Amino acid sequence: MGKMIYLDNAATTKTAPEVVEAMLPYFSEFYGNASTVYEFGGKSKEAVSLAREIIANAIGAKENEIYFTAGGSESDNWAIKATAEAYKDKGKHIITSKIEHHAVLHTCQWLEQNGFEVTYLDVDEFGVVKLEELKKAIRPDTILISIMFANNEIGTIEPVAEIGEIAREHGILFHTDAVQAFGQIPINVDELNIDMLSSSGHKLNGPKGIGFLYIRKGVKIRSFVHGGAQERKRRAGTENVPGIVGFGKAVELALANMEERTARERELRDYMMERILKEIPFSRINGHRTNRLPNNVNICFQFVEGESLLIMLDMKGICGSSGSACTSGSLDPSHVLLAIGLPHEIAHGSLRLTLGEDTVKEDIDDTVDAVKEIVTQLREMSPLYEDYMKKNSH
Ligand SMILES: *Cc1c(COP(=O)(O)O)cnc(C)c1O
Repeated sequence: MGKMIYLDNAATTKTAPEVVEAMLPYFSEFYGNASTVYEFGGKSKEAVSLAREIIANAIGAKENEIYFTAGGSESDNWAIKATAEAYKDKGKHIITSKIEHHAVLHTCQWLEQNGFEVTYLDVDEFGVVKLEELKKAIRPDTILISIMFANNEIGTIEPVAEIGEIAREHGILFHTDAVQAFGQIPINVDELNIDMLSSSGHKLNGPKGIGFLYIRKGVKIRSFVHGGAQERKRRAGTENVPGIVGFGKAVELALANMEERTARERELRDYMMERILKEIPFSRINGHRTNRLPNNVNICFQFVEGESLLIMLDMKGICGSSGSACTSGSLDPSHVLLAIGLPHEIAHGSLRLTLGEDTVKEDIDDTVDAVKEIVTQLREMSPLYEDYMKKNSH
């Protein structure tokens, strides 16, 4: 196999070498339990505190508002289920959107089976939540608004500041899944009126299996994992010290070069979208053209199956996705693409390419060349395409 081109950074990223290096001593040398009293365990405790400080500073929070979890999915589950539990006497209504990650959507569906009511807001053709609909959906018994910061499939950035403002005016808690946004967009939880925020290490060049939930002081949700007194009694379990250290390092790195890295990615992203639109007929960009994650490209090719395209790209050493990693392998079209109004047959032909820190222009050119060749090949085999061309040939 030749060189691999990795363009699936929304699924996961490479753990940065500096991150691995920072983690290693906490497997071998300083393996002490961070919750012990002796000095050896204190080494682990210090490292956890430092990571917590880095992360708290990164979002304008206080250290005692950061709770480490096992990743984005756990953070989402915790925020939503525990809010429901703690505030059920106030009301049993939750508002979210149709384009959330399954960690949010499936959690909300589970709550619906357990006596809660959920409103799933529509989005516009670009994937932006409609604020007017949000305002209309609010009821006296609404206890939580959970809207993602940026979408993992089409990259659209949501109007989080406005949503936070609306939530605050109505005295409703606001949770945001910022797994894709954190490290790519500056975030300040106070300025944006965010009460809870989910994040995950492996989406920003940190390790897998570590995340955090920011919980604003005063939000009264309880523990989701019962046991020991770790994380101020709100999340039991021996601290994943190497994971936490690695996460802290990854956040430090991501913030240090955010501006230049995202500027470079944005330029490559726009170059890629332009080349595809110009050189491949019957293609369209999904998501917002400019108000999108710096590293996200999502395109539909009419008359082409996304899965076939992915397999043929893989044979050329190019890794992409046809939606979210969780849904590939199933033949259902993406719920996000359906929510922005694409018909089933077009939603099936989508390709998501997400750039990373190491992506260079040559990777983009090689990928566009490959996509162009494969799309042409697949269309030559497509009866639908043949029919269409016959009908429109004069
Ligand atoms: C990846 C992802 C998650 C899940 O995070 P894990 O750490 O893999 O559990 C949740 N939400 C969004 C938007 C994601 O992209």
